[in-house]
Amino acid sequence: MKLQFLGAAREVTGSQYYFEGNGTRLLVDCGMFQEREHLERNWNPPPVRPREIDAVLLTHAHLDHCGLLPRLVAEGFRGRVLATPATVDLARLVLCDSAQIQAEDAAFKAKRHRREGRRGPYPEKPLYTLADVQRTLPLIEAVPYGRAVPLGGGAGATFHQAGHILGSAMIELAVALGDVSRRVIFSGDVGQPHKPFVRPPQQFTDADQIVMESTYGDRTHGNHDTIERQLADVIRQTAAAGGKLVIPIFAIERAQELIYYFGRLVRTGRIPSLPVFLDSPMAAEVNEVFRRQRDALDPEVLRRIDAGEPLLEFPGLVTVRSVEQSKALNHRKGPAVIMATSGMCTAGRIKHHLAQYIDRPECTILFVGYQARGTLGRQILDGRREVRLHGRMRLVRARVEQIAGLSGHADRESLLAWLRHFAHPPRQLFLTHGEEQSALALAEEIRQELHWTVTVPEYRQVVEL
Ligand SMILES: [Zn+2]
Repeated sequence: MKLQFLGAAREVTGSQYYFEGNGTRLLVDCGMFQEREHLERNWNPPPVRPREIDAVLLTHAHLDHCGLLPRLVAEGFRGRVLATPATVDLARLVLCDSAQIQAEDAAFKAKRHRREGRRGPYPEKPLYTLADVQRTLPLIEAVPYGRAVPLGGGAGATFHQAGHILGSAMIELAVALGDVSRRVIFSGDVGQPHKPFVRPPQQFTDADQIVMESTYGDRTHGNHDTIERQLADVIRQTAAAGGKLVIPIFAIERAQELIYYFGRLVRTGRIPSLPVFLDSPMAAEVNEVFRRQRDALDPEVLRRIDAGEPLLEFPGLVTVRSVEQSKALNHRKGPAVIMATSGMCTAGRIKHHLAQYIDRPECTILFVGYQARGTLGRQILDGRREVRLHGRMRLVRARVEQIAGLSGHADRESLLAWLRHFAHPPRQLFLTHGEEQSALALAEEIRQELHWTVTVPEYRQVVEL
């Protein structure tokens, strides 16, 4: 049996692991690379012909975990795709959105390169089209949490709660080959334990191999109880200054959590009354998935919904859909909150709002999620005084704030706590889905504390299980 790391190896995006054993060939995740320096990897073919892969198991619907699936289908994959019901629902939105963005990007890039008389490092065409997405969606089967699904060749997979986003899963892969058996746990993205909508991550007591994420392997988030207080402080300060609070959001989960916290602050009168704009049609559609996929929600939130508390609504919340409505926000006077995608400020409506407010000292830019290296969001968060936005340099004069507790990822302490539940050391622990320094720091910490064998794999590295 062997495992190959096809992405998220010393980087945070492009999650994809190839498993081969007993004649069964599987992929766990099929994610897109989003870090600028690794974009060309999206064009690399898998190590075997896509037609020979039996199944793809998806941990969750984020683009860096499912975003290359339509490309695999376009290249001949015809196997099964397994995911939880909420992931199936969300992946449809994510993949359609991705196909559309790629079509626009490719056209824009081709035009620019023609004008500049040069060629880019990879083809100026989309990785896949909406038609490829339409061929992919029927292949995805919904499987419930906690039920082992046979995959052939003595292999079976079980999906467990990961606590990261709605529908997110850790995947337990059990394989029996003669008298050799292996139990491999893929953590996917590990969430924080106390989240409003999703259940906490599953804990395990034994495994032969563990593949675990390490996004925040070198950092701690601080006290979770202070999220509402921090958010209220930022809102009050910005409102008192008469400015706008601009929040780059991720359409799945972070947007809904913010609405949840804003709702609680509004209903208990802890913040001044001011309009809150959700400027993301995608996030609005995700809200609908949250309403549909009741079974994926935490029992406590279900109890409150059933007691009459509105889900994802509060007085003052305005959902912005059309581009005209979005542009009209520029002319609004007075304090307001604007939440818009994309979460790392790499594209979308958030860039237009930043262009409007980034040089205004009365305004605040609030970060609530991970900002990958090289993104505009990371540059602003790192405190650059000047950033390139829409092709020209702009001074950052707005206040920059961050609420780390809102992150969808477990921090170093929570990752270590998750590992401590294992009663025996695994044969191997692989740390993935983290920038190199973060993964290496966590590996050292684990060696010191738990004395386990830890590997931080390289891109396309192959290991025997
Ligand atoms: Zn994720």
